[in-house]
Amino acid sequence: MTDQNELKKGLKILMVRPKPSPETIGLQHLMVVEPLELEILYALKRPQDEALIVDLIIEKKPFGYFLTTFQPDVVCFTGYITNVGTILTYCEETKKYSGGKTITVVGGVHCEVCPEDFDHPMVDFRVVRNASKVFTGLLDHIAEPTALPAGIFRPGEKVDPVLLPAFDFSYMLPDRTSVARYRHRYFYIFHDKVALVKTSYGCPYQCSFCFCRIITDDHYHQRPVKEVVDELENIPEKEIYIVDDDFLFDKKWLTQFITELRKRNISKHFLVYGRADFIARNPELMHEMAKTGLRTVIVGFESFSDEELSEYNKKIPAGLYKQTMEILNREKIEVFATIIVSPKWDRNDFRNMVRSLQALGIHYVNLQPLTPLPKTGVHYDDKDILIDRKEYEKWDLAHVTVQPEKMSVAAFYEEILKAYQRILYRPEVLLKYLMTYRPVMLYKMLVGGYRVTLQYRKKIKEAKKHA
Ligand code: SF4
Repeated sequence: MTDQNELKKGLKILMVRPKPSPETIGLQHLMVVEPLELEILYALKRPQDEALIVDLIIEKKPFGYFLTTFQPDVVCFTGYITNVGTILTYCEETKKYSGGKTITVVGGVHCEVCPEDFDHPMVDFRVVRNASKVFTGLLDHIAEPTALPAGIFRPGEKVDPVLLPAFDFSYMLPDRTSVARYRHRYFYIFHDKVALVKTSYGCPYQCSFCFCRIITDDHYHQRPVKEVVDELENIPEKEIYIVDDDFLFDKKWLTQFITELRKRNISKHFLVYGRADFIARNPELMHEMAKTGLRTVIVGFESFSDEELSEYNKKIPAGLYKQTMEILNREKIEVFATIIVSPKWDRNDFRNMVRSLQALGIHYVNLQPLTPLPKTGVHYDDKDILIDRKEYEKWDLAHVTVQPEKMSVAAFYEEILKAYQRILYRPEVLLKYLMTYRPVMLYKMLVGGYRVTLQYRKKIKEAKKHA
C-alpha cells in the first residue's frame, strides 16, 4: 500500500469525523454541522493527492467500510473530548487493517489542548498547533523524508507548551465542495441547511469554566471584514452559523460588516454567539444587525446569581439580563440560552432558574452541569469527580461529572430533566414554534428532544442502581 515511489506520486487521504458514542448525551440529535476543519485540510492537500471526507455522524456505513473501499495511505481524524476513545479505536482498526502501514494523524481542538490524550502507539502524528499551516508540510514529510513541521508530534514525544510555535491565525478557505454529498443534511436546531463561517479566533474574556478560550491560549484574532464577506458571498446556503466564540464583541468591526453586506446586497440569516452585556449596551447596533439578517443569538447566561457569575468570572451582573432580553424580544431575535447547573444547587435553585428563564421569555435552553474540563479554571478534588477522566465520551457537558452537594446524582438528573420539560414543552412555546418554523424542523427537534430525554432517563436509572 505505501511504497515510497508511489507516495511521491500522491497520497490517498481519508479524513474522518467520528461517530459520537451512544454514551454521549446528545447535541448530535439537535444539530449536525459541516466539519469545517476537515474542509480546510482538504483544501490543503497537494495537487497529486486524493482525499475523501467521511462524516460518520451522517454515514450509515461503519468506519471499516471506508478503509476497505478507499484504501487510504493516511487517515486523519478530528474531534472533541467526547471523541477521544472512538478516535483511538479507529486508529487501532486502521493499523490492523493495513498491517501497520497506513499512517494515522489526529488533530482538532482537543488534541491541540490535551495532546497527551492521543499519545498512543497507534497514532503516528498529533497536530498540536497551526494545523492549517503545517498540514501540507506533514503530507510532504509522510511522502518522502523532509523535516517534520513544528507543532506536530510523534508518539512518546512530550509536548512542552512553552516551546510550541506562535499561533498563526492567517485564514485558509475551506473547500466546501468536499462535503457536497452531505451539505443538505447539516442543520443547527431550527436552522436548516446551515453553512459555517469563522470570523475570529479565541475570545477576549476569561470565564473560568470555558474550554474555548484555552484553545488559543487567551489570544484573540479577528479576520478582516472584507475577507469574511468575500467568503460569505461564495456560500450558496442562506443560513449561516458564525462559529466564533464571541461574535458580538467589536462595534467597529460589526458596523463595517453590516455596511459591507448591504453594499454587496448579501442577504443571509445569521446564527451567532454573543454576550448578554454587549446586547444590553448596544441596542442600536442590535437593531441594525436584526435588519441585516441576525435571526438567533446563543447567549451564555450561565446563572441568575451574581455570586455564581462572579465565581465563573463572567463579568456580567444578572440584573442586566432583563435589558438584554427586552432588546432581543423587541428585535424578534431568537435566543438559545445556556445555563450552568452548579453542583451546589438544591431543588429551590432549579425552580428559581426555571422561573427566571420564563420571566425573561426564554424558551430554548441548554442546561450544562458544571464540568471541570481539562486545563480550564474549574477544579474539584478527585473524590468529588464521578466520572473517570478516561471515559471521555461522558465528558459532554450533559453528564453530571461532579458529586452534587445537596441531593443524589439521580435526583440531580431528575431536576435537570424536569427543568427542560418545564421550559421547552409548554403549549404556548410549541405553538410559537409551529407558527414560526417548518413542521419538518419542529418534528426533527421533537424527535431529537425525545432521544435526549431517553438518555437522561437511562442516567437516572443507572444512578439509582449505583446509589
Ligand atoms: S464563555 Fe463565552 S465569553 Fe466566556 S470566555 Fe468563553 S467564549 Fe468567551
